This record gives sequence, structure tokens and C-alpha cells, in this order.
Amino acid sequence: MNTALVSLDTLSVHYPLGRRLIGKAPVLKAIDRVSIDIPKGSFFGLVGESGSGKTTLGRAILRAAPISGGAARYSDGEVDYDLTTLAKDNLRDYRKRAQLIFQDPYAALSPRMTVRDIIAEPLEVMGLTRTREETDTRVREIAAKCRLNLEHLRRFPHAFSGGQRQRISIARALVTGPKFVVADESVAALDVSIQADILNLLKSLQRDLDLTFLFISHDLSVVAHVCDYVAVLYLGSIVEVAPTRELFARPKHPYTRALLSAIPSLDPDDTRKTQRLEGEIPSPANPPAGCRFHTRCPVAQDRCGADTPILDHADGNAHVACHFWRENLPG
Ligand code: SF4
Repeated sequence: MNTALVSLDTLSVHYPLGRRLIGKAPVLKAIDRVSIDIPKGSFFGLVGESGSGKTTLGRAILRAAPISGGAARYSDGEVDYDLTTLAKDNLRDYRKRAQLIFQDPYAALSPRMTVRDIIAEPLEVMGLTRTREETDTRVREIAAKCRLNLEHLRRFPHAFSGGQRQRISIARALVTGPKFVVADESVAALDVSIQADILNLLKSLQRDLDLTFLFISHDLSVVAHVCDYVAVLYLGSIVEVAPTRELFARPKHPYTRALLSAIPSLDPDDTRKTQRLEGEIPSPANPPAGCRFHTRCPVAQDRCGADTPILDHADGNAHVACHFWRENLPG
């Protein structure tokens, strides 16, 4: 992999669940000991079922969810921040460099503000421009990159379609000139025909503005289309991470294989069988001992309920957390 823009080492986000007079208070382990590097300039996918902790991990990297353990670094060549101990001034600077594109383009935009004001707001709140002219110039510049024209800037959000609203959200996220963007299910609420348009826009912005994306999605076909790397999250832990082509061609973890087998195929000759996972994802307040996936894993063995597998180098550039990935590879 290239140099990491964001580097996580055993990062955890735990939330205490009330108090106990005797014994340890229960803890919700939303993210547990996640270690990944997000290479500079990459489109890095993060996938998993709902409830796996994808959004929490994205928010922890943005410092919008509390980090309770482990290490997290952001290093873009200009600054090198320890994300677990950012002081107030550095946190303000980091907010300019790391931004979020929301999932729902309808809920994310204030209906009472013009598009110009919506896009300008982060500049004004962070004090990044000194005059109205300077703000307008920057707003027009980023709006044009997101294919919005001057006429669009005068209108209110209700006048726009879902795809156009998402372009407004993207312009608002990029107006501060970030290097790192978390796109959290950013095309999930859009029609399929509009999704491709927004994905192409994100890819061209990535190249134009030298951005690094953490692309959070439950939709593996979308991830296959845009991402360079994919990390698979299950119950707050990474079970597999690999370059996208490698992961799709030779998935090693049984959970990754189950997710991939559920992607619908348009090929009438495709004889793949969907691997149904039995049961619901367990609660992060009471995760299974040993391998967290063992209660649903179709190839679990006795050892899996006792020993926790670590994310280890497999072959090629893949890392996998499974005791038996070699034995269970399809022939
Ligand atoms: Fe399945 Fe065991 Fe591998 Fe976990 S360690 S994925 S339970 S085979």
C-alpha cells in the first residue's frame, strides 16, 4: 500500500452501559481493536451489515465519536496529528482537513437557507475567509466542480432533485478544501440511475482535488465499482481487508464470502449459490467469545468459540482474521 493518510492501530470505541455496584459495568463495544491503514489518494471501502459499526468507525476517525483505546494518526504531508489527543486548535484545523458527506440529501440541507449560504456556512463558521467576496469566490469555485451553476446558488434546496441535493452536500463538504472525506452511504438514498452519476462525480473530484475517501456502504456492487481497497467489518471488528480486485476474486473470510454471494448477478449462466447467514448479528453489548462470527459461521470449529483470531497477513496483499482461512478456501 502507499503511504497512509489515516492509520488506525487497535482503535476501540466502547460506550459504558450504566453502572454496577459490584463487578464491572457492562460496555457496548461498538468498535473493537480495529487496525487499518487508509492509503493517501485511495478510495477505501468499508462494508458490513447494518449494526456492524461502519458509521461509528467513520465518526471516530472524524473525531465525532469518542475514541476509548488504541492509536489513530492522520498525516497529510503538512500536518501529522495524533487523533486521540488533538488539542483545541489542532481539532479546528483537522475539521477543515477531514469532512463528512451525509447519507440523506433531503435531511442534510436546511430548507430555509439558499444553496449559496448552505455551501458557504462551513467557511464562515471556521473563519476561513475574510470577506463576502472571498467566500463567494470559493463557493462558486467548488459549486462549479460539483456541476452547480450560479442560478442554482440562488435557489432553496426544495427546488432540487435527490441527485442535485447530493451534489450540494458534496460541495458543502469540500468547500473547506479537505484532504480526507468520509462518504457514509452517500448514494444509498438515490435512484440507481442517479447513483452512477454521483459515483462518477466523486471519482473525478478525487482525482482533481487529490482526495482520499473512506467510502462506507452496505452495497458491495457499488464498492466494487469505485473502491481501490475494501475492509470488511463484522460486529465492530475488521475480518478481512484487501485490494478490491483481490477481495472480490479470492475472498478468504467466510463472512466476506457470504456477503459476496448475496450480490445479484445478471449472468443467466452464473451458478453461484447464495450463502445465507443464519440468525441476526449479535449485540455489541454482549459479543460472542472467541471469533465474533462463530455463532453464524458455516465452517466454525471448536477452537473458534474460545480463541479470538487476529487480523493477519494472508497471501498477496490481503489480511484476514480467521483461524482456518486456508482450509476453507473453495477449491
Ligand atoms: Fe469461522 Fe472459525 Fe474462521 Fe471465525 S475463526 S470465521 S468461526 S472458521
